[in-house]
Amino acid sequence: MGDPRGFLNIERKEAGNRPLQDRIHDFGEVEQTLNSADRKLQAGRCMDCGIPFCHWACPVINVIPEWQDELHKGEWKKAIDLLHSTNNFPEFTGRICPAPCEYACVLTIDKSPVTIRENEAAITEMAFREGYIKPQPPVRRTGKMVAVIGSGPAGLACADQLNKEGHLVTVYEKEDAIGGLLRYGIPDFKLNKDLVDRRLQVLIEEGIDFQTGMEVGNNLNIKELVEHYDAVCIAIGAEDPRDLPVNGRELEGIHFAMDYLRQQNKTNQGQDIAYDYLIHARDKNVVVLGGGDTGSDCVGTAVRQGAKSITQIEILPKPRVVNGKENPEWPYMGKVLKTTTSHEEGCERLWSFSTRKFLGEMRAVTGLELVEVEWVKDESGRMDMKEIPGTEKILEAELVLLSLGFLNPVQKGIIDKLELNVNNRKNIVTDNHFQTSHPKVFAAGDARNGASLVVTAIYSGRQAAENIHKFLS
Ligand SMILES: Cc1cc2nc3c(=O)[nH]c(=O)nc-3n(C[C@H](O)[C@H](O)[C@H](O)COP(=O)(O)OP(=O)(O)OC[C@H]3O[C@@H](n4cnc5c(N)ncnc54)[C@H](O)[C@@H]3O)c2cc1C
Ligand code: SF4
Repeated sequence: MGDPRGFLNIERKEAGNRPLQDRIHDFGEVEQTLNSADRKLQAGRCMDCGIPFCHWACPVINVIPEWQDELHKGEWKKAIDLLHSTNNFPEFTGRICPAPCEYACVLTIDKSPVTIRENEAAITEMAFREGYIKPQPPVRRTGKMVAVIGSGPAGLACADQLNKEGHLVTVYEKEDAIGGLLRYGIPDFKLNKDLVDRRLQVLIEEGIDFQTGMEVGNNLNIKELVEHYDAVCIAIGAEDPRDLPVNGRELEGIHFAMDYLRQQNKTNQGQDIAYDYLIHARDKNVVVLGGGDTGSDCVGTAVRQGAKSITQIEILPKPRVVNGKENPEWPYMGKVLKTTTSHEEGCERLWSFSTRKFLGEMRAVTGLELVEVEWVKDESGRMDMKEIPGTEKILEAELVLLSLGFLNPVQKGIIDKLELNVNNRKNIVTDNHFQTSHPKVFAAGDARNGASLVVTAIYSGRQAAENIHKFLS
């Protein structure tokens, strides 16, 4: 524990965000960085609790009090080594993790939590700057070959761990670039893609082979792949989006959120999108259906594209509003109203509204018919949705983005051809060793867990790798 009175004497200080009028004109990162001196002081607020609830709440089981202590002492190298002992990519989680650790920080009971997430990012940035993170290829190769399918955080963490053990790892990715949703999902204003390239370069120099433009199960035979390698890890994410099959769904101008966000990510990387396929918000009334984080990412993207108006609609009731960092459900992540930087940039938010139908003219969407709903418990205690008569309203929209969550991994190509067992949600079933119903095949990330978080994907990639290593040994 760096400073025994730190939590009493020092207030939480966040790095803060770029001014709104500045940031909405580009896709640069919104969050700023704090100077090293302040950062060390912030780490000194950690109380090194007897039971570190932050550690318990972190999905990748980061040893938080230990690296806060090293950070407070200015021991950046020791801090990054501790971070890397549980988390392959703290530069990503340090920026985009919703930080359940901070909701669980004991200081949250009556003060503001330690800036755990920001401290994590700061340690990693210093470590890259000072050359503490550099390629360290394994000294010995085992001769075993592993294929990882999918290059999101789960696939990358799995590949990194297995490569460190000396196995020869090839990552197959169907897109034209590596990173999964880190690359072609999460907007650049939350995660700058140079950071993905920076880490990728380290992994390449450590000996991992990356093959892009390879859709396994389509242009690469999955059975031959399984035959050829000693083990295979499937980390293909949960790409099937939830649709809204109401009247008018076929109208032009209604798109899945990911089709929209992917295009902007690609544009930011200098790629041209053919005009016929372009989904753009400029001068349009935009409606985002779905009140979650992906919806919020659509809001921020539409703001930067120059939308005329943006409305985000959620079918569930408005969550509880709290002051600042208060967490009424400590140590759990409280179900409280979350206002993101994208929301601050300009959008109207509606809760408890259901979409009855899409309206259109000349085959293009012009609006939506909404109705207010209430949620009541039925006899079995299940929440039931009921329309409130007389609350119908029409909303103008020339662009509608469906951000209603993801259902499961794509079944066609890999899962069906290998006849892998899936659960009732169509996620890949594994045993406790991350092994699927095919003995040589393992699974990790959203394809196994259902749509979740980057930090959960990293953790499951690591777990799959540990079990593959045991299997190969
Ligand atoms: C818009 C958006 C914003 C998000 N924001 C956040 C956030 O701020 N914080 C957070 O923690 N989480 C966020 N998430 C969730 C997080 O991104 C995912 O949970 C995480 O990326 C899952 O990792 P994964 O490796 O399992 O899958 P993915 O990241 O989905 O990667 C799967 C990869 O597999 C590839 N693939 C699929 N099929 C094949 C095939 N047949 N052959 C070869 N390659 C294939 C895909 O192209 C993809 O690159 C967000 C999700 C979305 C959609
Ligand atoms: S990975 Fe997320 S939960 Fe874990 S310490 Fe970092 S910010 Fe907190």
